[in-house]
Amino acid sequence: MLKGKTALVTGSTSGIGLGIAKALARQGANIVLNGFGDSEGPTSEIAALGVQVAFHGADMSKPAEIADMMAFAASRFGRVDILVNNAGIQHVARIESFPVERWDAIIAINLSSAFHATRLALPAMREANWGRIINVASVHGLVASAEKSAYVAAKHGVVGLTKVTALETAPTGVTCNAICPGWVLTPLVQKQVDARAAALGVSNEEAKRVLLGEKEPSMQFTTPEELGELAVFFCSPAGANVRGVAWNMDGGWTAQ
Ligand code: NAD
Repeated sequence: MLKGKTALVTGSTSGIGLGIAKALARQGANIVLNGFGDSEGPTSEIAALGVQVAFHGADMSKPAEIADMMAFAASRFGRVDILVNNAGIQHVARIESFPVERWDAIIAINLSSAFHATRLALPAMREANWGRIINVASVHGLVASAEKSAYVAAKHGVVGLTKVTALETAPTGVTCNAICPGWVLTPLVQKQVDARAAALGVSNEEAKRVLLGEKEPSMQFTTPEELGELAVFFCSPAGANVRGVAWNMDGGWTAQ
């Protein structure tokens, strides 16, 4: 379905971003990966799906590096047809003890990077009259949890940016939507499981049950594979007039 298209997924060396990149590659899209850590493993996993793949290690907190990554993608594949703004980090602390440097980093990586990548991707999408921008927000773009001030502020911002992008592109073949996962067992959440296990003096499995039990009625983690299929739907012909939604995949978290 996406043969001949190019998808750039930020923060795709791990977790949800890698899951979305694989799902788009299975539909035939060429992939530009981004992120920290091991890039060779994810690059070979995508190449094994029979599509072209490139990697750019831009630090998404740095607008100049984001610009370099977008120029790299255009020079390698012509243009970015599908942009998935996914890179994100977390820090958990009460507001009065929240490190100022962590606040700045979370706003830069989780929110401002989506603005920068979007503003740089839109001109070529408009010219082609086709494009898909998918912002990986969170249930924390819709509701709050204590001790996550920067994350919740950034993710609410991402949902707002999604709506504005959708309105500005509404008369065109470009769409923009947000995905709002509940708990997904990636390295970002494993850190929170470990912290909970240590604080409560319980096993890893018990800490997972505690985390799920507080928020997710299904008592199940959403998977990167499931989120990847939602991204595929947004890119499909049936998704052509889905604009500005914040689609939760959260085991009932926000239904309560
Ligand atoms: P993860 O830690 O597995 O992956 C994060 C990715 O972002 C990695 O590839 C990492 O290298 C990259 N990254 C981090 N800082 C970066 C930077 N400055 N520049 C470039 N890349 C950077 O986490 P994940 O759980 O897969 O999270 C992906 C997205 O999903 C995030 O935006 C997160 O907020 C969101 N999310 C996660 C969950 C969850 O439960 N895991 C729930 C809702 C939303």
